[in-house]
Amino acid sequence: MRKVIILTVLVLCCTVIFSSYATSFAQPNVETSNLQSNLSSRELLQGYLTQAPSRIAGTQDMVNARYFIGNTLEDIGFPSNDLFKLLPNHTYYCFDDNGFEFEDDFGNLLYGYNMYAFLIVNPTYPTIIIGSHMDSIGQGATDNASGVVASLMIADILFSRQQELKCNVIFAYFDAEEVGCIGSEYYAHQLNYYPDSIDVDAMINLDSIAGGDNLYVYAEDKRTDMCDYLANSHPNLYQKPINAELNYSAGYWTYGYYQQAFASDHTEFRVYGIPTAVIFSGNYSWKQMGFVQSLDANNCVMNTDLDTLAHFNSLPNGYNQIDTVASVVSSALLDSQFVGICQNVAKSQLVDLNLAYGTIAPLVVIQGIVAILGISAFTYHKKLRKDAILNPAEANNNSIFKQADYHDIFNI
Ligand SMILES: [Zn+2]
Repeated sequence: MRKVIILTVLVLCCTVIFSSYATSFAQPNVETSNLQSNLSSRELLQGYLTQAPSRIAGTQDMVNARYFIGNTLEDIGFPSNDLFKLLPNHTYYCFDDNGFEFEDDFGNLLYGYNMYAFLIVNPTYPTIIIGSHMDSIGQGATDNASGVVASLMIADILFSRQQELKCNVIFAYFDAEEVGCIGSEYYAHQLNYYPDSIDVDAMINLDSIAGGDNLYVYAEDKRTDMCDYLANSHPNLYQKPINAELNYSAGYWTYGYYQQAFASDHTEFRVYGIPTAVIFSGNYSWKQMGFVQSLDANNCVMNTDLDTLAHFNSLPNGYNQIDTVASVVSSALLDSQFVGICQNVAKSQLVDLNLAYGTIAPLVVIQGIVAILGISAFTYHKKLRKDAILNPAEANNNSIFKQADYHDIFNI
């Protein structure tokens, strides 16, 4: 009986340990270092921040930002299209002229406008969104000019290699992220509720992808193949299964990354069941009570007025990080293995959104069962020892009562 209990406890412990590492290790096929954009990350970032230095949603700078992105897409080769269509069937970029309403912090009614570039190479192929938000708090060189620039570089790489693509790509440039992910919510809602809209298989969000100490890719509250693949693409890109670390980010147990604890544009797609991954240059660690952009306090400038071009230029790796992300994501989208993961595997690896605490709730239940079994085993063993003291001869013949125990009790 005791062996059975010990075995059960061991099996349950192993289940708890391995449940966090259940996915396979997806390895990239494509040599990422070969893929470089013709566009310079330094020139793009400086151009964007010069043309639109303070991109608060609803202001003239957002118009300027969209024109900078539109002009760059046009230079890459994307033709413009005045009419935003929900069912794109060719390659073009467009402004979303309809826009959406939102309120600023003072209750003023404002309008936001996303923009998109569609690289639809074959309507039967799976479709992946590359998202980045255009707006910022202050100048926002890291958050999120860096993500916009990487997205433009990816558009440049993939536009010139579109014959090789085995997926369609939608480059979405979101407005009004900083005031509550309103642009991405608007687009995700359109994708979900309009019957003729395109089916999206996955979304990769590029938010603040440069300016922190390292690059991280976040996915579900557990490892996923999407996450594994991207993290294994480059030695400077680290995987972050969210689990306890991110759930603890606000100083108390809260929700998974797709909910309020880590809200960025991917959240709006994830709640509709679209698999997502986020590349982010900040590290979440519960030991340090939340978001850590850098171990150097002077470099923790995100969401402050210090997130400027001048500060970004002082960083040793800022532009390298943008180039790395552009290369990694372009390579992934050109690799049929990664596209296959997005199309066939990613949905099955989503955690259940109905579990308020992500993977925490089932782990607590399993750990509770382990604790009960452990206490039962301890109590049973104590009873055997008591019985043995009362009846040594019988205890000595008891096959499940180890000889060592007998010697221990009777000191022989
Ligand atoms: Zn951001």
